[in-house]
Amino acid sequence: MNEQQIETRKITSEEAEQCASEQIQVIGSIQPHGFQFIVDPQSFRIVQYSNNVSSLIKKISNKKINDHALLGSDLHQWVSFQAKKELTKLSKKHSTHLALADDTIIKGSQWECSAHLSNSWISLEFSPKTNENFDSQTLVSQLDSMVSLLKVVHDESELFQTITDQLQTYTQYDRVMMYRYLPDWSGEVVAESVSPLESVKYLGLRFPAEDIPKQARELYKINTLRYFANVDAEPAQLTPSILPDGKPLDQSFSALRSMSEMHRSYLKNMGVKATLSLSIKEGDELWGLIVFHHNAPKIPSHHVAAQLRITGQLFSEIINSYITPAFNIKELTSLMNTQAYIEAIFSQAKKADLSHGLFESVLQKVNNAINYDFIGIIYNQKCYTLKGDVFSILKQDTCDALANIFLNNDALCFESDQLHEDVGAIPDLEDMAGLSIMKAQSPIDFFVFIGKKEIAKTIEWGGAPSTVNIVIKDNKRQLEPRSSFALWREKMEGQSDEWQTKDTKILQCLFNECKDFISLKHTQLLMNKLEKGAYYDPLTGLANRTHLKSFIENIKQNDETQFVSFFFIDLDNFKDVNDFMGHETGDKLLISISQRLNACVRPSDLVVRLSGDEFIVLFTHQSAPEIAHIEALAEKIISRIGEPVLNNANTLVITPSLGIITEKVEDLNFNESLKRADIAMYSAKNAGKNRYHIFNDQDQDSFNQKTILTMDLRKHVANGDMTLYYQPKIDTNKQLKGVEALARWHHPTFGFVSPDVFITLAEKNNLIYGLGVNIIEKACSDLAHWHSVNPTLDLGGPLSINISPTQLAERSFEEDLLAILERHHIERKWIRLEITESVFMKNYTTSIDMLSRLQQQGISISLDDFGTGYSSLNSLWKLPIDEVKIDKSFIANMSQDNNLFTMVESIIQLCQKLNLEVVGEGVERNIEFNLLKGLGCNTIQGYYFSKPLDPTRFQQTYIEE
Ligand code: C2E
Ligand code: CA
Ligand code: CA
Repeated sequence: MNEQQIETRKITSEEAEQCASEQIQVIGSIQPHGFQFIVDPQSFRIVQYSNNVSSLIKKISNKKINDHALLGSDLHQWVSFQAKKELTKLSKKHSTHLALADDTIIKGSQWECSAHLSNSWISLEFSPKTNENFDSQTLVSQLDSMVSLLKVVHDESELFQTITDQLQTYTQYDRVMMYRYLPDWSGEVVAESVSPLESVKYLGLRFPAEDIPKQARELYKINTLRYFANVDAEPAQLTPSILPDGKPLDQSFSALRSMSEMHRSYLKNMGVKATLSLSIKEGDELWGLIVFHHNAPKIPSHHVAAQLRITGQLFSEIINSYITPAFNIKELTSLMNTQAYIEAIFSQAKKADLSHGLFESVLQKVNNAINYDFIGIIYNQKCYTLKGDVFSILKQDTCDALANIFLNNDALCFESDQLHEDVGAIPDLEDMAGLSIMKAQSPIDFFVFIGKKEIAKTIEWGGAPSTVNIVIKDNKRQLEPRSSFALWREKMEGQSDEWQTKDTKILQCLFNECKDFISLKHTQLLMNKLEKGAYYDPLTGLANRTHLKSFIENIKQNDETQFVSFFFIDLDNFKDVNDFMGHETGDKLLISISQRLNACVRPSDLVVRLSGDEFIVLFTHQSAPEIAHIEALAEKIISRIGEPVLNNANTLVITPSLGIITEKVEDLNFNESLKRADIAMYSAKNAGKNRYHIFNDQDQDSFNQKTILTMDLRKHVANGDMTLYYQPKIDTNKQLKGVEALARWHHPTFGFVSPDVFITLAEKNNLIYGLGVNIIEKACSDLAHWHSVNPTLDLGGPLSINISPTQLAERSFEEDLLAILERHHIERKWIRLEITESVFMKNYTTSIDMLSRLQQQGISISLDDFGTGYSSLNSLWKLPIDEVKIDKSFIANMSQDNNLFTMVESIIQLCQKLNLEVVGEGVERNIEFNLLKGLGCNTIQGYYFSKPLDPTRFQQTYIEE
């Protein structure tokens, strides 16, 4: 008993393979509406025949023959050809229609014969003549009109429909469909024409690729017309089954070829009784099929078949010469346009600086042309993505997930229309269902991708694709074609539209442009980085010295600029800001000054930060600049810098000193010009700061001198041989009231050098601390010496030593001072430190703390040059001081200037109130002496009484008894 079980499900890939390898025809059988002879080409004897010959001849011709008499008999015994020699000219590739005479059993009036070579055997296929009477001209003229139609139709489907309409009318098959292959070999019905009794059923539906398996498609490429006259008829068998060469007959080109059981039941399931199918080729490939279905058995006449074959060829020609080229040209032009557009966008972008905004605008513009759901570039660990119209920079895990796709394959390209199934969801791109991505590894890893969303539309299939009936019969599994062709809607889940060659080309183009762009930007960035470091100051972004140098080199090449002015700018007391308000404030100040300087120049000028608080503004001129012009520029800079800077609600005011030199570009020597501008700047400083000074010849002389002096001063400090002069202080009774040590330097070439000069030099050249220590050392040793000379020595007051503010700022000052006193056995009350008000300006609390400590230890403090600095009378009481020295400029002029007199009077009164000793210094004349005396100033110092004396003179005068 045969037990049969049927299951219907999606086929597995192995089953699909099995399907594909199955024979598409039943070997050794033919359709029973005709019969077949296989004839030896040499002897013309029949070597094989179909077992329905006798029954058919009986039926059609009413003649009786014995099947067994056929084998080995001479062909001509049964058939007589009108042109016998045609038998020797047969082709392997197509059948030839052979006209039959009426003088044998198989008459030309009753039978049609078509012949071809199967291997070397002659195959003769006979079918009964039908009474259909076709006008062969009809179809030809119809085809002619098709071609003219081509010139006017804009829509392919209109053309397809016209063709099926005409073929339906011509052949009278109930249904004629044009079936076009898609890239996955599923087919879409693009035109359908039916007889008045039928209705359109399949138009627009897709048929799964499995419906016409691969080996069938291969055959259809060579055998372009097949028909099955009656699906229900049992096939006739070829006898014997094997030819004399030991092989079965190759039936590839046989018109009577029978169909496989599979195909037969497929057609039965569709309710079709007879079919014909015509191949439409595009080049060597199958473009599609024209399929004819009939609801009753139908044998196409030889004539019709021939006409259809020609139609198929003609239509293939039409496809090849009009439709495909037209489509290709359309696609090619649109692709070329797209490429040109993308190219233009990137060549524009190449001119811009790399930024997130640039990526955004490039992606937006590109997508205007290519219009994908997603388009993105991953560069430098950032994923710049455009989703629809929305631009975003996605997070690192998106980049990682996309990069991971390439982790396990060497390919630089990945394409999928079911992304999530293939690699899993990409973070932040979960709604991307299809992805086509390309990767580059140079200059650095970057990726370009386009993506598609899940498609919302469903595909309508003529039956479910990839389903098959598995028939289990006698414990054997067998595949059967599906039985349902009912409309089946496939929902595409998590899948995008398929990627087409066009997409790949677009991505390739985008990728190439992007690669070009990125490698350019990458090198630019690298170069910028190098350049930036080498040419710019990182804090302010201003040019640096190197930049200035190359800027000047460039100016020399360019004949427009004839003169340049160097404005050497040094901020006054900038160190104070840094020291007392913090580096952060200092930096802010420098940045805001950079901006102000930038605002003072034209594009052809250059603002440079040389170092710390030194700037250069280089002004370029096309002709020698007017001095007034230079002065105006200098004033503008001074006033701009002098504008208050707001820092945490505190206003900060800083002033500059400017040194200016204008040079002819021809004679320009970079280092020399810079040096001269620097010298001029020092002149401005010396002249009181917050001003400009234009370089002149004296500057150069004094500079040269200073250079030598500085060098010699260094040696001098190192040697430690310091000379001190001593100037006594006296009371109104001209009694000694202490003494002041004043540093002296006799230079071997320049002679006497003023302490005003060399102290300043020492301060600027970082020599002051060493110099100061030497002075203290020398003063103490002199004092110790005097005490040894005169043990009962009374100087009437302490020995005053001038201390420069920079000296005091040194942490070790206190320690060093006390150590020196200790070493020379100097009592602390014998020493007084003379400081100026600027000490308190610099570091108010620290200085006060240190001086207070020294004061508590017995060292007295004197405030020197009082009146010239900033501190007001009112703050005197806060300072740790014992004595105030009224500056000699007040004293010298108080007799003439009433204001000054009042001032001196106030100072003296205040000091008396605060219990501070008050000294009038620089007293040269009697009148000053008397005025001070009258105002109650008890201590005076000056040439009036004594000039500073050398140690020997001083010792002789005041020490030796
Ligand atoms: P200073 O501390 O105000 O010193 C007084 C200056 O006035 C001395 O000039 C002195 O010679 C001068 N002088 C004294 N009496 C008269 C007078 O009646 N008329 C005039 N016109 N001048 C008089 P010197 O010695 O040239 O010192 C100049 C400045 O150099 C000093 O001003 C002081 O600030 C600085 N200096 C001198 N020696 C030292 C030192 O050992 N260390 C430091 N840090 N600075 C010193
Ligand atoms: Ca002094
Ligand atoms: Ca003084």
